[in-house]
Amino acid sequence: MKVSKRIVIIFISVTLISTCAYFIFGILMVKSFSKNEVKRAGSITNTVVQNLNKEVKDIDILGDVYKDDISKLIYLKEKYPNENIDKDISIDERLRKDKINYKFIMYLDKEEMKIGQTIEDEDYNEVVEISRDIIKKSKQSKVTGIITTNLYPYAVNINAIDVDNDKKIEMYLVLLKRYDKEQLLKMQEEVRRKIEISDTVPEDDSIDYSLYDEENILFQTKGTTIKSYYIIPKIRGYKDFALSVTEPRYVEMTAASHVGVLVLILIIIGILANFILYNLIKNKVVNRVQKISESVNNIIETANTEQVLEIDSLGDEITELTRDINGMLFRIVRASTSLEKNEEKYSNLVKSMTNGYIYLRIEMDDQVKAYDAIVLEMNYAAQRILKLTNESVINKRLSKLLENISAKSEEVLGALYKLSEENYSHIEQEVNLLDNVWVSISMYALEKGYLSIIITDITDIKKYSEEMKYLASYDTLTSLLNRHKLNNYLMELSSKGEEFSIIFIDLDNFKNLNDTLGHNVGDGVLCVVAEVLNSLSNENTTIARFGGDEFIIVRKGKNDMNQVTDLTNNVLYSLNRSFKFKNYVFQLKASAGISFYPQHSKDISTLLKYSDIAMYESKALGGNRFKFFEENMLSEIEIENKLRTAIEKGEFEVYFQPIYDVHSHKVSSAEALIRWFTDEGMIPPDKFIGIAKRSGDIIDIDNFVLREACKFCKENIKSRNKKFNVSINISQKSLKQENFIINLKELLKQYELEPRSIKLEITEDEIIEDPNATIEILNKIREIGVKIALDDFGIGYSSFNYIKTLPLDVIKIDRSLLISLEEDDKTLAIIETLINLCHMLNLEVVCEGVEVECQLQLLKDINCDKIQGYYISRPLAKGKFREFMEEN
Ligand code: C2E
Ligand code: CA
Ligand code: CA
Repeated sequence: MKVSKRIVIIFISVTLISTCAYFIFGILMVKSFSKNEVKRAGSITNTVVQNLNKEVKDIDILGDVYKDDISKLIYLKEKYPNENIDKDISIDERLRKDKINYKFIMYLDKEEMKIGQTIEDEDYNEVVEISRDIIKKSKQSKVTGIITTNLYPYAVNINAIDVDNDKKIEMYLVLLKRYDKEQLLKMQEEVRRKIEISDTVPEDDSIDYSLYDEENILFQTKGTTIKSYYIIPKIRGYKDFALSVTEPRYVEMTAASHVGVLVLILIIIGILANFILYNLIKNKVVNRVQKISESVNNIIETANTEQVLEIDSLGDEITELTRDINGMLFRIVRASTSLEKNEEKYSNLVKSMTNGYIYLRIEMDDQVKAYDAIVLEMNYAAQRILKLTNESVINKRLSKLLENISAKSEEVLGALYKLSEENYSHIEQEVNLLDNVWVSISMYALEKGYLSIIITDITDIKKYSEEMKYLASYDTLTSLLNRHKLNNYLMELSSKGEEFSIIFIDLDNFKNLNDTLGHNVGDGVLCVVAEVLNSLSNENTTIARFGGDEFIIVRKGKNDMNQVTDLTNNVLYSLNRSFKFKNYVFQLKASAGISFYPQHSKDISTLLKYSDIAMYESKALGGNRFKFFEENMLSEIEIENKLRTAIEKGEFEVYFQPIYDVHSHKVSSAEALIRWFTDEGMIPPDKFIGIAKRSGDIIDIDNFVLREACKFCKENIKSRNKKFNVSINISQKSLKQENFIINLKELLKQYELEPRSIKLEITEDEIIEDPNATIEILNKIREIGVKIALDDFGIGYSSFNYIKTLPLDVIKIDRSLLISLEEDDKTLAIIETLINLCHMLNLEVVCEGVEVECQLQLLKDINCDKIQGYYISRPLAKGKFREFMEEN
């Protein structure tokens, strides 16, 4: 419905409703006026009624007066019968004299006979009748009230007269006053209202009994008047009479006419106001909105978004709206231009896309089922990938196109059916085309009945994914199975419940080779190792590279110790070969550990760990050997676990082994050696130092020993010898700690030690692990004045080259060299040469493991500087060390 129509309806309804409201209001108002008028009519009637009653009262008083007069008269008459005394006349006269207007005055004797009267009238007989009746029936000597004849109501007073006072009634005096016209006129004068006496109360609808009040007044509203009826109470009589007062309804009538005019005026004003309002709204709102709507429609029809709406000068909300619409139009223009641009951009994009793009319309059969599609558009990339021209394809069937490129058309069409019938929005498929080209086809359902196909050439990806699959399973360097594939293979074997053994192989000193000769050489060696292992494999063995220089051989079949031993020996033997790189000869060696499935464990990762533990055992024993896993090797793991809390629990103690100075014949230094006391007894360093080095716990141990040693050294310097110094074994891992030197300096400061009081012992094999970095650190340590000793010289590589190049102060010759010292002259000669060489290089020489006196003697002879060994003393706890020093 149009707004203008709606407004008209609203205004008409408002007018009607307000008119009704005014009417109701008017009626209510008039009603309230009329109520007041009724009240007033009532009160006037009351006044009249009071008048009536007053007459009755008056006649009562009058009766008493005349009763006495008449008694006197009769008495006189009887006493003086000769005297002419006319009692009737005298009373009449008297009444006249008194100007009292009574209708009748009667005397009635004992027999109720009339003995005197004043006026005879038409209802005279009725009056006498009623009076007699009253006298007969009344027991009182006086009766006052109202009686009615057939013609009038009368006020009446009847008095008994006892003339001679003998208590016997001789006669009655009856006074009557008629309520006739004359009387009514008198009353009317008083209240200035029309008063009537009627013999009946009209019984019609105009009588409002609801207004019947306790004064016995009935109200009758009739036309322009209210009539109130008062039913006159009688003591005896023929008829009922009602006194009626007529009250004109001036107020109500005028109110009614005024209210009527008021309502009429209000209605006219309302209609006028609505009309004006309607016109205002129509002109200022509806017409303008209509105009805007027409302009917008015009813009939409002509699609001319550059057109704008005219803006009026009223500056109200509609002007604002027009402005907003203009703003919107501006934005639409902008959006549509950018849309056009985007469309162009997308069309260009589709054209230049490297992915093929085909736009199709789906063909439906009678059952509205898709059976084919018609190609509507195809971009350049699609032509290139499918090797088809646009002309050969556009407006042709998709099935035909698929035939041309010899794809499996059923698959593609199947996808098409699925897309159109089921609720798929997108289906992807890989399809093999002619010439071994692979494409990925993505079908997208577009607007109803249309679809697009994006074609991606995935030939290369397919090729790569094959390669990736290979990479995921094989090690790129050696082409052996990688760790991941090995795991899968072992899982497979275990799930089949087949027995097998794992041979864990680790090259000895490979890190050193890698660091000194470079990664290329290292890689070359790893390839050679893979070749060797491959050459030894057969259908029952599988070889994998586990990581770094770790290889694993899986041997399928019964776990026969002898056969596995043979195989492992064969492997280690074959790997034990030397390589020559430029001037450097490298001796390849390997260690192995073996575990059995399911004997050692049924869990693959546990089994691998066990073979690793066994391999470490072989390494610990010097390498180039193999070990079968044994349960007790797990104690190492136990040790590793216990180590973690050993420091906290205070299970470590540092012992000190005296070092004897050959020149001064004194003990002027000691080596700090860790001791571990657990609840189950002492664990020797050889059992846990290696483990601690692997686990990293060695750092805490070394720090602990370093602190204890500094404390010990200080005590000895204070109490004994200013030159006393302590040697401390430091592992490579500790040295490499970032803040090692800072900590060392702090310790020296804390215990007020001179740096030369501290010697750090480092073993050759640890330096070899990372020579350059180690040398750098050792140099820095020496710079602050702390001394460095090369420990365990004589085992391992023991290259003189090292001694020359390393920043050292002391060489400690290993105990193993001294063992054959006594019998073997050659050894003695070697040691002597070594000592001389060291002296030439300004290095002090300490010989370890001197157990007997002759060893000491021989070493003295060849100029050894210091001696350490059981011959001097075993390592001692602090207290014992003090005792030892005091004894010597
Ligand atoms: P090491 O540094 O070569 O220490 C000397 C080892 O030879 C000590 O064994 C000592 O008790 C033993 N020894 C000394 N004199 C004789 C002798 O006359 N005859 C025999 N048969 N042995 C002798 P220990 O205390 O069992 O220490 C073994 C190795 O543990 C040490 O060899 C050292 O490499 C390492 N170690 C000990 N304490 C520490 C430490 O606090 N930190 C580090 N990193 N390694 C430590
Ligand atoms: Ca040592
Ligand atoms: Ca040593």
